[in-house]
Amino acid sequence: MYKLTKELKNFSYKNIYNVSSKRILVRSCLNVAVDKTGKVVDDTRLQESMPLISELAKSAKTLIITGHLGRPERRERSLSFWNVAELMSNELKKIGVSVELYEDITDEFINKTNEINTGKRIFLLDNIRFFKGEESKNAEERIYFSKKLAELADSYVNDAFADYREAASTYTIATQIPSFIGPLFMREVDALLKFSAPERPYVAVLGGAKLSEKLDALNTLIETADKVLVGGAMAYTLLKAKGIETGNSLIEADKLEIAKDTINKAGDKLVLPIDHLVSSTFSEDASKESLIVDSAQIPEGTIAIDIGPKTIELFVSEIQKAKSVLLNGPMGVFEWEKSALGTKAVCEAVSKIQGYKLTGGGDSIAAINKFGITGFDHVSTGGGAMVSFIAYDKFPTLDVILNQEINIG
Ligand code: ADP
Ligand code: MG
Repeated sequence: MYKLTKELKNFSYKNIYNVSSKRILVRSCLNVAVDKTGKVVDDTRLQESMPLISELAKSAKTLIITGHLGRPERRERSLSFWNVAELMSNELKKIGVSVELYEDITDEFINKTNEINTGKRIFLLDNIRFFKGEESKNAEERIYFSKKLAELADSYVNDAFADYREAASTYTIATQIPSFIGPLFMREVDALLKFSAPERPYVAVLGGAKLSEKLDALNTLIETADKVLVGGAMAYTLLKAKGIETGNSLIEADKLEIAKDTINKAGDKLVLPIDHLVSSTFSEDASKESLIVDSAQIPEGTIAIDIGPKTIELFVSEIQKAKSVLLNGPMGVFEWEKSALGTKAVCEAVSKIQGYKLTGGGDSIAAINKFGITGFDHVSTGGGAMVSFIAYDKFPTLDVILNQEINIG
């Protein structure tokens, strides 16, 4: 679990001195869902990023926005910000600000960012992953690009909690110019930090596809939570490691040995499924004929696609005793009607507890939206970021700001 070493609010973007004289570069999470043409199909992340952008568009001398979209291998229109820029423009029109999209850091661009701001326009750099150096494994290349970005601005604000990997625009730039934390980033950290001194009982619920992606978080939760309930595909690797038959369920064979260590360490803190919903093949059609198996053992030739009714009852009863719940990952293939019940019941139970409840993760958010479940104290936009924050005592994109050697005054 992340350990905060300094007072967060001292690093808030609110501390930028004399904003109206500053060129500010913001790193936002603009990793929205797009279709094949690059048209935005879900703008949640853009919407979440807008408060800071709107505020600084009005107050800063110059505002430059960076963000990434998907995993481009080269410049491609489908992962360009053409539509993001349009949507951002629409939002900012209300306050009389336009958005100029730039594909490159050209001289024209640099000149414009140095002009006295009339408060009428902001600059959006296209998908930052199009730029050489952003994610380069070669440290020199990354530093070179981060310096190019740093030259554009007097201050840097990171508001992209979800973009937690160390890249030039999320990490290295903060070693170059005075750097601050944006409001969305701050809210995410504040919410997750509730679990460093949680009201007890503290129940963690983990699910989703891969144990390997969440094993470090699971190990931390076993130490910090009172109960850890595990469903979803990741539960089957754990069951198999316990010597329970898992049929054709999705398991990670190379994680069985390490899973045994976790199971031994966890003792009765770890609660695994005791019955299942199984299907003959992994397809939505086959799922319509799925059957409940009233045992932890999964019959040969079948695939578990959801937790069973007894497991739902067991998980819900543990959740109802809790004063704090952290939920990440679905309990089954919630995308299919027949195997959505476990996820729905667990999410509903968590949303109703009298206590602090937080959920997060791309598919977990999709699930609660699909079922129309509300009532969480916080919904984290960062899936991998949230898991990493729970798993480790460090969070590099935050630590680099808290530990900067530059005087941020
Ligand atoms: P999140 O994005 O919330 O962190 P993950 O990405 O880890 O969640 O996992 C979500 C995926 O796991 C979903 O697409 C879901 O269908 C899948 N999943 C859940 N249970 C199973 C299962 N029993 N078998 C196969 N896939 C599963
Ligand atoms: Mg996911």
